[in-house]
Amino acid sequence: MFLPFREGPMSLVESSPVDLACPEWCAVNHGTHELVADDDHQSDIHTVAALLRHLAPAPDGSLIQRTVASDIDVVRHHDATHDQEWIFIGNDEQQLDLSLESARHLHHVLGRLLRR
Ligand SMILES: [Zn+2]
Repeated sequence: MFLPFREGPMSLVESSPVDLACPEWCAVNHGTHELVADDDHQSDIHTVAALLRHLAPAPDGSLIQRTVASDIDVVRHHDATHDQEWIFIGNDEQQLDLSLESARHLHHVLGRLLRR
């Protein structure tokens, strides 16, 4: 499972003053979480079981299609170093990190396409 955690070492000593004012969607127990910096916020992880279509080139130049079952994680997060909220969608192999506005546009388009 891939999670959109900030890379690099994190410790309580190196952190800037901790802002404990979590947004209402934050599910992090700050100060005790090993992988989330104290000034970052992250929602619960929503895991969606999905079928993914993979296309790979065949030796004859055609494309081989495979259908693969995979869990897709969806997480809202805020990285204090970039002062913006993001919606992470992905797994170990493929990831999208969308701005909230982009995620709303994607939600709108998916809604339109799925109603047809
Ligand atoms: Zn938080």
